[in-house]
Amino acid sequence: MSKKVDVLGIKFDHTTKTETVNTLKSLIKENKKTFIVTANPEIVMHAQRDPQYKKILQSADYIMPDGIGIVMGAKLLKNPLPERIPGFDLMKDLLNIANKEHYRVFFLGAREDVLNKAIANVNHEYPGIQIAGCHHGFFNENDPEIVDMVKGSNPDMVFVALGFPRQERWISQNSHLFEKGIFMGVGGSFDVLSGTVKRAPELWRKLNIEWLYRFIKQPQRWKRMAFLPLFILKVLRSRR
Ligand code: UDP
Repeated sequence: MSKKVDVLGIKFDHTTKTETVNTLKSLIKENKKTFIVTANPEIVMHAQRDPQYKKILQSADYIMPDGIGIVMGAKLLKNPLPERIPGFDLMKDLLNIANKEHYRVFFLGAREDVLNKAIANVNHEYPGIQIAGCHHGFFNENDPEIVDMVKGSNPDMVFVALGFPRQERWISQNSHLFEKGIFMGVGGSFDVLSGTVKRAPELWRKLNIEWLYRFIKQPQRWKRMAFLPLFILKVLRSRR
């Protein structure tokens, strides 16, 4: 277990992506069920308003800082985190492991056309992966048929791309029905896997301005970015 860094009540793991991937590798081998959250400032802010969601996040085995905002927040709290760990990168690393080990992976979420394109790309890029199954993300959260389908596919990894808070809620409501598996909410990652949404070029990512690229490409998301200054303000207030 790594040291935890508390940012507004959410306890992030003080770890690097490489360390995390190595830990997860062993956990899958041992058939240990694991719930991973990659949280950005928007998620942390949502948890402030929704205590039930906060509890769900607190029940996760690992919470990773997805986004430079969280890393900045931790630094302001004089309890720095080693690096940001984008959910998409962590998912890609897990797909690489699944490819090598021929693991069974379930893809749950996104629009049906997007999901189908994402699956086709996964089949092409990671031929060693066994696609345990897939289902689009527009279903009733309490639909038992979906859980039965995922469970029946005996997955080693389940990526849930329903956007927050639905994805974490779905995992927390259902993971007790599974004996093993890595469960991770991946937001809009299938849109990127499918090629529908482009990720920022590497230089932008290295400079930690992936958010700026997203803003330029999808300015309609400005409301979601407006969370960052509010988040930083709240972190500053929490220092007192
Ligand atoms: N989505 C879904 N079901 C829903 C709502 C959203 O499957 O009821 C999908 C949506 O198509 C997208 C993903 O969830 O693929 C979330 O995307 P968003 O950009 O909102 O997520 P973020 O990465 O910003 O959390």
